[in-house]
Amino acid sequence: MLRLILTAVICVAAVVLVVTGRAEGAPQQKPPPLETSGAAPSATVEPALPAVSHSDPEAPYGVRLPVITPKMRAYITTRRILYLVGTLYYYLLLWLILRTGLSARLRRNAEQAGKQRLLQLVFYYVGYKLILFAASFPLDFYSGYAIEHSYGLSSQSFAGWMGDNAKSLIVDLGTTIPVLYLLYWLIGYSPRKWPLILWGASIPIIAAAIFAQPLIIDPIFNKFTPLAPGSLHDRIHALAAQSGIPNAPILVSDVSKQTNTTNAYVNGIGSSARIVLWDTLLAGKNKMTDDQIVAIVGHEMGHYVLKHIYWGFLETVGGLLFVFPLLKWAYEGVVRKKGAVWQLTGPDDFAAIPALMMVFTIISFIGSPVYNGMSRRVEHQADEYGLTVTRNPKAMAEAFVALSEQNLSDPDPPKLITFWLGSHPPLKERIEYALSHCPEYGCGEK
Ligand SMILES: [Zn+2]
Repeated sequence: MLRLILTAVICVAAVVLVVTGRAEGAPQQKPPPLETSGAAPSATVEPALPAVSHSDPEAPYGVRLPVITPKMRAYITTRRILYLVGTLYYYLLLWLILRTGLSARLRRNAEQAGKQRLLQLVFYYVGYKLILFAASFPLDFYSGYAIEHSYGLSSQSFAGWMGDNAKSLIVDLGTTIPVLYLLYWLIGYSPRKWPLILWGASIPIIAAAIFAQPLIIDPIFNKFTPLAPGSLHDRIHALAAQSGIPNAPILVSDVSKQTNTTNAYVNGIGSSARIVLWDTLLAGKNKMTDDQIVAIVGHEMGHYVLKHIYWGFLETVGGLLFVFPLLKWAYEGVVRKKGAVWQLTGPDDFAAIPALMMVFTIISFIGSPVYNGMSRRVEHQADEYGLTVTRNPKAMAEAFVALSEQNLSDPDPPKLITFWLGSHPPLKERIEYALSHCPEYGCGEK
C-alpha cells in the first residue's frame, strides 16, 4: 500500500511536470556540484530566429534574452520525456528484480561465496548492478550518447563513452558497497536505533567524500591542469586576491573530450577545495570572451568565499536527520508488506536492496523542492557576490545568454519545474538580475 501511494505521488508529480511543458527536466549524467549553468548540456549556437536588435526593448544595454530556437525547444522536450521515461523505467526495473525473485536468487548465489557478510554483499551487489546496467543500457545509450551527438553537444567516441560508463560503474561499486555494508550491519546490530547511529556515522563519511571527490574521483574521468599563463590568468588571479582567496586553486578540466557544453564549478573542502573551469569555456566553438569567463569565475568565487560547500554539507547532514527515520519507516514497511512475495528474510537481507533504493529515490524526489530551494538561494548569493567583485553586469548577463544557447538550456522554465527540479534560478531571472546592477556599475550603451 505504501509503495502504491508513493509511486502514485511520484507519477502524478512527474506527469504534472511534463504537462506544464517547456521543462528542463533531465539531470546531467555527472552534474558537478554548484555548477554555473542549469541542468542541461550544450550545443552549437544556431539561432533559427532572427537575432533581436539592440534597440529592442527586451534587449536592455544591448543584451538580448536567449533565443529559443526550434532545436533548443526539441532538445528540451526530448530531455523532459527521457527524464520521465527513465525515472519510471528505473522503478519498473527495481520492482521486476524484486517481484520475479531475481533479487532473492542473487542473494542465495552470493551466500554460496562464503560466510562473510561483506563477501556476500560484494557478490550480490555486483550482480545487481550488472543486471541494472544491462537492462538500462539501451535507454542510457540513447539518452547519454545518441541524443547528445545528434544535437552536436558531444563528439566523444563510443569507446570513450563506454569507458566512462565502466569507470562510473566501478566507482559506484567502490563507494556504495562500504556504505551498504555499514547500513545493513547497523540494521542487524540495532534494529530500532539504526537511523540515529547511521546519521552519526554519516557525518565523517560525507565530509571525507566531499574532501576526496576532487582528489580521487574526479581525476578518474578528467585531467585537471592549472590555468595557463596569460592575461586571463592574471585577471582571474587578481580577482582571487581581491576576494581574499589568493591561494585558491583555479584549475581547468579537459571535459571537451566528453562534451561541447560549457560550465564551471567549485568542489572540495579544506585543502582539496578548488574552482574548476571546463576547457570548453576557454577554447573551441563555445569559447567565451575573457569578460564573460571572468564573470563566471566571479560567481564561482562567490561559492568559494561564502563557503557554500560547507553550508551544503551542514544542510545535507541536517536533512539526513529527518531522511533516515523516514527511510526506516518506509523501507521496513515495504519489506514487512512484500517480504513474503519477494522472498526477503527481513530488513537486513541484502536481497531487499532494490526496495531500499526505490524508497530512497522516492524520498529524495519528494524532498527535491526543499533541497533545490536551498540550492537556488546559494546560487543567487554567488551571482550577487560575482557582480560585486567583477562589477561587470553586462558580461555576466552575456555569459548566461551563452550558457543557455550553447547548452540548449531553457532560460525560462515553468515555475513548477523550477520549484521542484531547479538547482539554479532560471537563466532569464539571472540575466535580469545581473542587468539590474547596470545603473550602479555601468553597462555601456543605454
Ligand atoms: Zn553556482
